[in-house]
Amino acid sequence: MGAVETAKLIGPRATTSLISRASPLASAAQQLEVLARLPQKNFSQRAGSLAPTGIDIFQINVGKLCNMTCRHCHVDAGPDRTAEMMSLETVELCLAALDRTVAATVDITGGAPELNPHFRYLVEQCVSRGKRVIDRCNLTVLLTGPCRDLPAWFAERGVEIVCSLPHYRKRNTDLQRGDGTFEKSIEALRRLNAVGYGQGNPRLRLTLMHNPAGAYLAGDQASMEREWKEGLKANQGVSFDALIALNNMPISRFLEWLESSGNLHAYMETLVNAYNPATVAGLMCRNTLSVGWDGRLYDCDFNQMLELDARYAGGKAAHIRDFDPARLAARSIVTARHCFGCTAGAGSSCAGAVA
Ligand code: SF4
Ligand code: SF4
Repeated sequence: MGAVETAKLIGPRATTSLISRASPLASAAQQLEVLARLPQKNFSQRAGSLAPTGIDIFQINVGKLCNMTCRHCHVDAGPDRTAEMMSLETVELCLAALDRTVAATVDITGGAPELNPHFRYLVEQCVSRGKRVIDRCNLTVLLTGPCRDLPAWFAERGVEIVCSLPHYRKRNTDLQRGDGTFEKSIEALRRLNAVGYGQGNPRLRLTLMHNPAGAYLAGDQASMEREWKEGLKANQGVSFDALIALNNMPISRFLEWLESSGNLHAYMETLVNAYNPATVAGLMCRNTLSVGWDGRLYDCDFNQMLELDARYAGGKAAHIRDFDPARLAARSIVTARHCFGCTAGAGSSCAGAVA
């Protein structure tokens, strides 16, 4: 992590959801207002208008329920978020829409997506359609009762696992995700390794996702991957295939922490000053469609959390029940100041840094 001032580090440890605390920032409109009040340029002044290039990745957020309550969470997920859960009816609408696209990849996220009762059905259906299926996994959920068999279940179906581990050292991980998270995450990685994940087999790909433990940008992805591979192998005996380094987005619980710790202005300044035009072509909003738990459609998971709906020409908010790929292709991507989180430094969409 290098020498980062303590004032820029997240603490103290895990939290509770904004919604459970009736925090004003539980409102997406309030988050957008906080960002709009900042003095920095608007995103569109730097990046111009963004257009989609197609739907290569069909991302489905199946709900906000999670077994954890990480301090930096952009979803405001937690064990209390039981109301926001994708229904079987919406899952079926997603599959019908998927069949009308050329998307080769289905990216399933949450919350902890594995906690949705229709998760396995959704995975099975996507696998049977020959899709590359990604599960965005927080690792610790794999140790919970109903999910303990998932490593072997995933391996049988060739599901790709992209899992979040803030750092390969215990302190940094537990700061962000809560005490004991590191040990549980390592145990989950061992179980994934035991069924063949993370050992160079392209069918059993295991990717780790890192994000900083505070108000600073993610480091160099390639050198971090080398360091993490060595560190995790030597200290914990676990292996993985690739590492993605993501910046923290200035929304939801991370926005709350930025505000309360006095880091918001400086962090936005860091993001804006690190604007890198080379990242724009690879932004996930260009080639991804994001479906919310209730079927609303978005340009990306971050816009989803800010309730910035994808809109057809004419302004109508798009929904999976009236999915229209041709009209979606003609839309403009909705951007706001949080988008600077994706264009800072080497870039930070779901796929990580630009090469
Ligand atoms: S594991 Fe992921 S979804 Fe769950 S609280 Fe942490 S960051 Fe949010
Ligand atoms: S948050 Fe990132 S991925 Fe989403 S619309 Fe903005 S730039 Fe695109």
